[in-house]
Amino acid sequence: MTFDPPVTCPVCEEVLELDRKLEGHLVEKHTQQEVVRYVVSQQNRAEALVR
Ligand SMILES: [Zn+2]
Repeated sequence: MTFDPPVTCPVCEEVLELDRKLEGHLVEKHTQQEVVRYVVSQQNRAEALVR
């Protein structure tokens, strides 16, 4: 039996239940716009670190 550590949603920082997949949470709880906004903000942060 494998133990998976709890997954935390990167958008709302909510800890998901062990049998939940992050993809399902994103689809159910967040709009595509929210997810895209999060991804863009992460990319901006990564670029800021490179500069
Ligand atoms: Zn979330």
